Order: sequence, then C-alpha cells, then structure tokens
Amino acid sequence: MICSQLCFLTGLVLAVHAGPISQPAATDQAVAESYLKTFYNLTIDEAPGTFRRASTEMIEKVRQMQKFFRLKVTGKLDQETIEMMKKPRCGVPDVAAYSTFGESLKWRTNKLTYRIEKYTPDLSVAEVDDSIHRALQVWAEVTPLRFTRVNNSGADIIIRFASGYHGDPYPFDGPSNTLAHAFAPGPGIGGDAHFDEDETFTFRSSKGFVLFLVAAHEFGHSLGLSHSNVPGALMYPTYSFKDVDRFSLSLDDIQGIQSLYGLNTVRTRDVPDPEPLSNPDACDAKLILDAVTTFGGETMFFKDKYVWRSSQSTRPEQHLIQSLLPNLPNNVDAAYESPVQNKVFVFKGKRVWALSGYNFVRGYPTSLSILGLPSSVRKITAAVHDQRTGKTLLFTDSYYYSFDERRRSMEAGYPRRVEDGFPGMAGVVTAAHYFSGNIYLYSGTNVFEFSSRRLYRVLQNNQLLPCVNKNYNLK
Ligand SMILES: [Zn+2]
Ligand SMILES: [Zn+2]
Repeated sequence: MICSQLCFLTGLVLAVHAGPISQPAATDQAVAESYLKTFYNLTIDEAPGTFRRASTEMIEKVRQMQKFFRLKVTGKLDQETIEMMKKPRCGVPDVAAYSTFGESLKWRTNKLTYRIEKYTPDLSVAEVDDSIHRALQVWAEVTPLRFTRVNNSGADIIIRFASGYHGDPYPFDGPSNTLAHAFAPGPGIGGDAHFDEDETFTFRSSKGFVLFLVAAHEFGHSLGLSHSNVPGALMYPTYSFKDVDRFSLSLDDIQGIQSLYGLNTVRTRDVPDPEPLSNPDACDAKLILDAVTTFGGETMFFKDKYVWRSSQSTRPEQHLIQSLLPNLPNNVDAAYESPVQNKVFVFKGKRVWALSGYNFVRGYPTSLSILGLPSSVRKITAAVHDQRTGKTLLFTDSYYYSFDERRRSMEAGYPRRVEDGFPGMAGVVTAAHYFSGNIYLYSGTNVFEFSSRRLYRVLQNNQLLPCVNKNYNLK
C-alpha cells in the first residue's frame, strides 16, 4: 500500500482544513481521504490545481459518512469522525460507485453451496470449519436458506484468507482497518468472501477478531445485504467484539434478510408419542390456563405441556409444546408478544425465553432481571403487552409492574395493586392477554375483560379458547 500512502501525502500537502477549533493532524487527513475513497466513492483528483473542487467533494463525502454513522453532521474531520474512521471494519463500501446491493440482488435458490478454499494458520482447521458453519447458520435460522459444504470450485460461496493483492480489484491493507470483504450474489466471484490474512482471527477470544463474527457479517453481503446504519446490527460496518454464546441477530438484520428470502418455515421436529389421557380439554369448565399470548397473527394458550394454537380463521389446534416450540419448558408461567421488539417472551421461574417467529433467539433463556424487576420477584404469573400504550404489564399474583418496551426499562411508581389499576378485578392474575384493544385478565377459570381499564364483563375461559372437538390430533 506504499503507493497509496504516497498519494495521500500529495493530498495532504494540498489540504487546507477550515475547522475553526482544531486542524486535523496530517495523518488524519490521509486516513480520511483513504477511508472516503474506499467506502464513500470519493473521486478526489490528485493533480495540482484541482484541490478546490476535490475539497468540496471531500466535505460532501464527510457529511455523507457522518450521516451514515449518525454522528454530528459537520462536514469537518472532527475527533469523533476520525475515531470512527480508524475503527476496524468491513471492506465493503457504505456508499459505492459499483453499488450492486439492490433489493433485487439475491440468490434465485434457497439451496446454496460453499467451499473453504484457503485456511488461515490463526486457527485450527476444525475451528475455521466450525466458525464458518455457525456464521452461515445465523442466516439459515431465520430464512429458508440452507447451506451445503462442497469441495468443488463451482461452489456459490468461496471462502478464502489472503493478504494484500489477491486477484480482485480490492487489495487488503495489512493489519487492522479492513478485515474482510464479500461480493453480492451472482455468478463467478459473486457471493465469495475474502478475509484479510494480515489480521489475527480468533475462535472466540477478544484478543484479535472473532472469525465467526466477521464471517457472519460478510455472509450477509454474500446473501445480498448491504451495510446497516443501526448500531448493534450485525450488518453495521465496524467490528465490535461480542460474546459468541450470546450472539443474536438484531431485528434490523432479520428484517433485511427476510425481505429477500422470507421466513424460516421449515420445521424439523420429532413428534413424541401423544398422551391422550392427560391432555387438557378446552371444553373443561375447570380448565385454568398457564399463559396466553398473541403470536404473530395467532394466539397461543399454554397449559401444562400443551399449547393451543388458534387464529381467527382456524379452529384451535392442540400441540405438545415440545413438538411445536422445542426448547421451551413445559408448565410456563407467562408469555407476551412485544411488537416493538418483534419477539414473543415466555417466562418460567426466574428465566425468560425469546422467540422471533418460530425461531429461538440466541442469548436466551436469560434471567428475569434483564427486565429490571427487583431480585425479590421469583416468578411472574402473567404478562401482557398493551399495544395502545407500548407498555408491558408483568403480574406477580395481585401486584403488577409496568415495562416500557421502547425505553427497555421499568416504569417508576410500581408495583401497584392489580385492583388499583384494574378496578373490579378479583383474585390473583394467572394469565393475561391483549386482543382488539382490550386487556383480558385471567383469574382461574374467569376472564375479566377490560376496555380502557374499565371492567366491561366477566367471561369464562372458553370465550377466547373455543370448546371444539375433544378428539384432537396432536401435531
Ligand atoms: Zn460489510
Ligand atoms: Zn478480495
């Protein structure tokens, strides 16, 4: 990269920075030019006498970059901007002349092949294999995409480690800065992912760059995603270390990939033997439900090791929890759906599980304390999200807390007594549900229907879970 450094030096002699507070250091100017050329398609002309025009373009590119990273848009190379430019990151531009990452750019098949053509000595072969496999699975878990490893050169995604010039127009730059790049879906080099061998890659340690994290990001590009400006998203351009075991895609990543390939609808479940003698009956007047929640367009009613799945257009179907939603425990305490987080949360004891559609969210189950509940709360008995207020109510017998989904924090002034917030409610809350603007609080076999916090009527369980044919087929 000596040539480039010389080129930057030329630019630096010409550079006159208009910043009122501090002049950027000469090296910072060079860093900025290199960065904006690589990632923002800066077409600065180094010929003498053309500086003024280039400078205007430069300011515009700085503004563009600041806007992308949600920095203060000044057009100047301030400290914050330079620091962002020095962070290790992906080599794929945020704004590119050759931007091919359009919505229409995707693979035409869900069955893709990959090949690891060249390994890195930083990790064992088994560690590279495992990191790559898991990085692809991140995307397979939320889409119908399936990846098969092959050993022929015709693979859709060819993976290799290389340094400096390596046969494409985007040479790597030595240690740090650019870590890897990948090409959008297409024939030939399309879909391929290259990793800068001058980096130190690790299996899970923060002393270097975790290959799994870098690869999962690059495969996002291989599948057709461009960079996200949502901090915390996997597709954010800069690298940040995360605990591999707690890794999960952000909503932005999931929405992005699902907009190209759709949801993961393929379920491979072992269906255990049905136990007809013990399954609960929706027609049983004494039925006490464990939890009720909306679930996408459906409603789920939990009882012991069973769950009824119901929608307005279909009769309720009874399933074993372990066959419909494996990994969830039996005998759950509570469940609710957060439209803000686009997840369903299920509670049992001090643990909480999260689902995104029918997929389990990585990093869960986790502790109830993540919600900010006091440690004295050993379990919650019911939960419901009120779509009109954006608040989730978490009940512990006859008290309740209020969780602000947007701020992700508990509201002050709680717990309150249920009867104070819901006048007319009698008994402890055993399940809770939101439907059509109303809140339904279950207490044993009774359901208290509240409309704008006013008790409208008291129903029986089966008002919401219709009593249908007793001879269910377990699915
Ligand atoms: Zn990238
Ligand atoms: Zn390359």
